[in-house]
Amino acid sequence: MSNSSSPLIEVENLTKVYDLGETKVEALRGVFLSIDAGSYVAIMGPSGSGKTTFLDILGCLSRPTSGSYRYMGEEVSRFSEKRLAQLRNHEIGFVFQNFNLLSRATALENVELPLLYDRVPYRERRRRALDALIAVGLEDRIHHRPNELSGGQRQRVAIARALVNNPSIILADEPTGNLDTASGESILDLFDQLHQKGHTIIMVTHEPDVAGRAQRIIKFRDGKVISDQWYRRN
Ligand code: ADP
Ligand code: MG
Repeated sequence: MSNSSSPLIEVENLTKVYDLGETKVEALRGVFLSIDAGSYVAIMGPSGSGKTTFLDILGCLSRPTSGSYRYMGEEVSRFSEKRLAQLRNHEIGFVFQNFNLLSRATALENVELPLLYDRVPYRERRRRALDALIAVGLEDRIHHRPNELSGGQRQRVAIARALVNNPSIILADEPTGNLDTASGESILDLFDQLHQKGHTIIMVTHEPDVAGRAQRIIKFRDGKVISDQWYRRN
């Protein structure tokens, strides 16, 4: 049952085991968290602590081995394929450390891609992709390919692509990890704006300065949450 008073995201005793035949890797070993709509959360922790695994599960790119993941009060494991696709493609936008752009496609074409999968007609596709690129300040670079853009600009294209379906949640895995400080700052400014517009942002980072932009910092270690702190930000 969905319930307006429930948190946006609620996970209980979430585990993920990667079965490599001879060895099994316990990437998540019982994660309990709840995240409210409209919050800005940073997830920190050493390499290998399960941050990416956790984000991938939230984004329905991967399924947990056990435990519960409720989205708006509903158990995600019971979602139909259709509902899952709706969640993945329309309610969640992903931003990756290495941008994950198609190198042969222009900025505009990269941003149009999620709409192409959705069979959105050409004119509407163009208009929405253009709007998303304008929103990230790239209106003068729409016909450039990724290798003709700086790292910061590439990440802006990736953010525009994540925004083109107007998702309520942005999941970002080390979004500033491959950027110089100034470009990283401008991406974080963009996240601030998205947060102010009401988007929920969940961002993995191992840089304290970057995490400092969030309202809440959750630390992972060995597949578990070891600390969870809220901060008041202006
Ligand atoms: P983090 O993002 O915090 O660095 P990950 O979630 O990527 O951590 O990884 C957690 C653990 O799971 C690590 O030990 C990693 O080697 C392992 N792992 C991650 N993805 C896979 C996979 N696809 N197959 C096997 N093991 C994996
Ligand atoms: Mg990772």
